[in-house]
Amino acid sequence: MFLRCFTYKGLVVQLLPGSPIPNSLNSFSVYTASSKKGDNMTKRVYNFYAGPATLPLPVLKKVQGELLDFHGTGMSVLEISHRSKEYDEVHKKASELLKQLMGIPNDYKILWLQGGASTQFFMVPLNLQIVGKPMEYVNTGNWAKKAIKEAKLYGDVKIVASSEDGKFSYIPKNVQFSSGASFAHITGNETIGGIEWQEWPKVPSEVPLACDMSSNFMDKVIDVKKFGVIYAGAQKNLGPAGVTVVIVREDLINRVPENTPTMLKWKTHVEKDSLYNTCPCFAIYICELVLEHLQSLGGISAMEKQNRKKSKLVYDVIDKSKGFYRGVAKQDSRSLMNVTFNLATPELEAKCVEEAKKKGLIGLKGHRDVGGMRASLYNAVSLGGVQVLCEFLREFQENNQ
Ligand code: PMP
Repeated sequence: MFLRCFTYKGLVVQLLPGSPIPNSLNSFSVYTASSKKGDNMTKRVYNFYAGPATLPLPVLKKVQGELLDFHGTGMSVLEISHRSKEYDEVHKKASELLKQLMGIPNDYKILWLQGGASTQFFMVPLNLQIVGKPMEYVNTGNWAKKAIKEAKLYGDVKIVASSEDGKFSYIPKNVQFSSGASFAHITGNETIGGIEWQEWPKVPSEVPLACDMSSNFMDKVIDVKKFGVIYAGAQKNLGPAGVTVVIVREDLINRVPENTPTMLKWKTHVEKDSLYNTCPCFAIYICELVLEHLQSLGGISAMEKQNRKKSKLVYDVIDKSKGFYRGVAKQDSRSLMNVTFNLATPELEAKCVEEAKKKGLIGLKGHRDVGGMRASLYNAVSLGGVQVLCEFLREFQENNQ
């Protein structure tokens, strides 16, 4: 079985499992050069999509192997009750693994919900607002703006800092939240702009910090105790689309007004262990497998090390390109997960995306709202894949400058 397969100079190149990660394309071993239909090979490209995004191959293989007969039940995990013993094991294990890997303290609850991070944009104010106390937000880009828009439906929102003046190319420094705030809200990583908090802001002890970690969930070791609430759509670093993880400090679940719809109270889901209604079983099952895989690789600290290495490789290409590639983010705000950059013209960017695609490097077009290019380097993106990308970018520069 092959682990990785990509096209380069018209060949389908495969890396055998266990083979060392090459330093340059020249040192790749070409084991097979074929992409004929029906030759039983799994064609896998290097996937740099921003989300849904690449998943670890061993996880996909396991899902494939268990799809028709899950743990000897004679049924697919897609077909069994969310209240069955077999599913319950998956459900509990997913939470346990997340708790272990992130070091989540006992007074925090883990919820597996639906509706995406976009639903948490209004669930956060619904569940945390104290009438008469402002909700304080930092505006760092497209996703922060969307969160702010929803909060404004519920009451007084104060923008305590913004990087709009710099076209959202940086994370504001020395952000001051007031002690009279209902809660403080930040976007851990702006997926579109490619900026990420490097140090968490200081927040008065009585004010819970809520963080949208959709695109930097588990990208590095964090201290969960600094947050009142963490939420993330799973489809980038944790699993497939369809499930949103919420980690909430226990004492915050009772703030919600009684007349809030049942499904929109975190409290409902805490009390029923995310099984108040039919949970997204299949998506949670895949998250559980991703978490198991992550544990086998050495956990989040190992991922952080690799993520720093991977993003540095791409930022180095940008920095050494003498302006051919122009990074969007200021150096001190650069994202580990989404590297955003521009070329001289949109036409040249389109050419670069197209040529990359021909070489099996997929998903490098920037978000439709901002254009440019973006390489998303989530946990499941291999170091080898990033090296191939860098080699391609250097070569593209040579041929087009
Ligand atoms: N926040 C961030 C930082 C995101 O990147 C996204 C999705 N790309 C969202 C929120 C919205 O997530 P969802 O599509 O799961 O609602």
